Amino acid sequence: MHIVVCIKQVPDSAQIRIHPVTNTIMRQGVPAIINPYDLFSLEEALRIKDATGARVTVLTMGPPMAEAALRKALSFGADSAVLLTDRKFAGSDTLATSYALTSAIRKLEEEEPVSIVFCGKQTVDGDTAQVGPGICTRMGLQQLTYITKIEDVDQKTNQITVQRRSEGGVQVLKTTMPCMITMLEGTNTIRFGTMDDMFRAARTPLKVWSKDDCVDDENKVGLKGSPTVVSKVFVPKPRAERAKFIEVDGGDPVALAAAAVDTVFTVQPKLAADLLGAAAAGH
Ligand SMILES: Cc1cc2nc3c(=O)[nH]c(=O)nc-3n(C[C@H](O)[C@H](O)[C@H](O)COP(=O)(O)OP(=O)(O)OC[C@H]3O[C@@H](n4cnc5c(N)ncnc54)[C@H](O)[C@@H]3O)c2cc1C
Repeated sequence: MHIVVCIKQVPDSAQIRIHPVTNTIMRQGVPAIINPYDLFSLEEALRIKDATGARVTVLTMGPPMAEAALRKALSFGADSAVLLTDRKFAGSDTLATSYALTSAIRKLEEEEPVSIVFCGKQTVDGDTAQVGPGICTRMGLQQLTYITKIEDVDQKTNQITVQRRSEGGVQVLKTTMPCMITMLEGTNTIRFGTMDDMFRAARTPLKVWSKDDCVDDENKVGLKGSPTVVSKVFVPKPRAERAKFIEVDGGDPVALAAAAVDTVFTVQPKLAADLLGAAAAGH
């Protein structure tokens, strides 16, 4: 069984500062790390490897310096790594990023079919949570997001059983592989690599692929393939209003609720009129 884990190198958000005059992110001198959400997925992939003997490949699209993220992932126990790097990929939005990553996964499938693609739930820089589902849609994979536990991977029946956090509780889902999984944060802890792992990681040759190695349509990557337009980036102004706290200890619940509704209607008179109008109309 072959598992691909998509990891993105991101600036360490704990160390990012905002320029006091321009309000832009100051990335200079900020160390790059593996997107923290991706580590939950990587650890889960490694656990499946421990249990089944699966092969784990880590994949990233980024500048040449993203090699460091791949080497780190190799030191945790991944078997091989692919760096997708080309100036033509620069400026890719989530549509173009998911296209490029899908192209690389399809190229990997020429060697061996991929049963599971793991992605992080989201990144800490772009933060859109679109790339995983984008890959999933392009490849026609079963989509398993917000997963908290992988219960079973049955290679004989090609089925996977997982627990998924949903609003009302936990769903247990069983589906057929191939699938795309995003793990929820806090579901596991990434292992430490041993000294041997670190030496192996440093020696493992990476597959370094450019646009020409795996992408069929160059109009779908980079700025050309990115329809997203960012019209404005700004830091929201702090609001003057603050939440009101109401002491409920020992009070009459009906009177407290009526007072709370009164307060809301005083601040939002149109809401009161709309609700009373709807009630009068029998809605
Ligand atoms: C208009 C526009 C222009 C942009 N221009 C640039 C630019 O010039 N340079 C630049 O660096 N960024 C640029 N970006 C940001 C870039 O689009 C995003 O970094 C990228 O598309 C991933 O989106 P995300 O970070 O929101 O990932 P999410 O969708 O939040 O990521 C979910 C998961 O997908 C996987 N994933 C995401 N990205 C990668 C990756 N690169 N490699 C492997 N796995 C990945 C990871 O598992 C990740 O946890 C631009 C974005 C927009 C909207």
